[in-house]
Amino acid sequence: MTDPTRMSAAALAEALTGGELSSVEATTAHLDRIAAVDGALHAFLHVSGEKALATAREVDTRRAAGEELHPLAGVPIAVKDVVVTRGMPTTAGSRILEGWIPPYDATLVERLKAAGLPILGKTNMDEFAMGSSTEHSAYGNTHNPWDLDRIPGGSGGGSAAAVGGFEAPLAIGTDTGGSIRQPAAVTGTVGVKPTYGGVSRYGLIALASSLDQAGPVTRTVLDSALLHEVIGGHDPHDSTSLDEPLPDLVGAARRGMTGDLTGVRVGVVTELNGEGYQQGVRARFDEALTLLQKAGAEIVEVSCPNFQYALAAYYLILPSEASSNLAKFDGMRFGLRVEPSDGPVTAERVMSATRGAGFGDEVKRRIILGTYALSAGYYDAYYGSAQKVRTLIQRDFAAAFAQADVLVSPTAPTTAFRLGEKLDDPMAMYLNDVATIPANLAGIPGMSLPSGLSDDGLPVGFQILAPARADDRLYRVGAALESLLEAQWGGPLLDRAPELPTTEGSAR
Ligand code: GLN
Repeated sequence: MTDPTRMSAAALAEALTGGELSSVEATTAHLDRIAAVDGALHAFLHVSGEKALATAREVDTRRAAGEELHPLAGVPIAVKDVVVTRGMPTTAGSRILEGWIPPYDATLVERLKAAGLPILGKTNMDEFAMGSSTEHSAYGNTHNPWDLDRIPGGSGGGSAAAVGGFEAPLAIGTDTGGSIRQPAAVTGTVGVKPTYGGVSRYGLIALASSLDQAGPVTRTVLDSALLHEVIGGHDPHDSTSLDEPLPDLVGAARRGMTGDLTGVRVGVVTELNGEGYQQGVRARFDEALTLLQKAGAEIVEVSCPNFQYALAAYYLILPSEASSNLAKFDGMRFGLRVEPSDGPVTAERVMSATRGAGFGDEVKRRIILGTYALSAGYYDAYYGSAQKVRTLIQRDFAAAFAQADVLVSPTAPTTAFRLGEKLDDPMAMYLNDVATIPANLAGIPGMSLPSGLSDDGLPVGFQILAPARADDRLYRVGAALESLLEAQWGGPLLDRAPELPTTEGSAR
């Protein structure tokens, strides 16, 4: 039998329902892999081996008793540490939440548990999901499984490295400006940001509430569809949750796997494929377009002129919302509490000492920026203008989707950069998200899937965008492209990733 850690979630699910493998075996194999390679990757902040095995045993017992279970029951998963988990540490990558144990589960975690997916643990991330490299985590950086000297993307680098490093077949990420798609791109995995409102935000530690979405991180397009269907759908606990059924995502992925895209109009966004994109990134993008064309798709060129303002608008809207969302970390309610080293212990001075010690530099930078942008004298000039740009970007998308069923671009301008390379240059870090941010500003769904290796031998991501509520289109086009590419490569791209060094881990 194949090593369970090398199997897709769909293949694991089949082996589990067919009785060829137990969930305890599948879960143990992944926990062993974590113990062996997480010393090198550092994808996990917390491993919950006992709890995962308890879920696995329960699933095995119920399955043996002939109960009809969810198809993914027993398939283990990793969860980004920004998602609250009852009784399991949740830090959002921040010192300020060190030691906090949430009293409730996020809706998506409840759904994972109801479907019987053992939770392997919580994955590393940039503090409060601010970053593109996971280097802003207060708990040390995560390494890229393709090259340990490079970043795994961010903010969800832990989830992407866990899936790309075969520590977990499935993971949950969150995407406010690209934090599912960009890490997927630089690790050769698949990541999906659903339509805003498609997956409940109840129990996500908010970064920017009008932009945040949770979604799947996997190794195949079909696996993302399977996971998306578990976590998605209406939730009365989230007032922005869409009160309508999800489209048939798994059906769309299976249809795409036939490789036929006859009649599908694919729009190439002129503004997202130009200057500043690494040569190998553009080459893999162009080759993927040729494949889509061979599959019967019609390629059209579309222009979204207001995208040039997207990054600037995002870096006003996000800090504004974040400065307000992070106000609740005051040393009174959650986690860390620091008393001033001298002088009187007043509420204000405890807040100041706690926030001074508990937040990292990037978080402080954005709180200051956001508070400034929202201040009475500057609100209209900054926040107000950014909101207007947001409307213009939505209009650009509406016009583009009148000409095309999906839009495509490279996911990120470059492959994974070296650890430390952009850490002291916030602008260079922010530029990683030029291609992913417009989707968040407009609330539309997006997917990144691997489209090959650049000249430096590192993975390149291909981004697909669809209109709001048409997430199924991502899966159809993504699955088609994936099957055509894998036919060329003779198997999944991740099979070409180097073996990871194993160390005696302390995981579990
Ligand atoms: N890299 C982006 C930022 O720093 C995206 C973050 C995210 O999607 N959570 O804001």
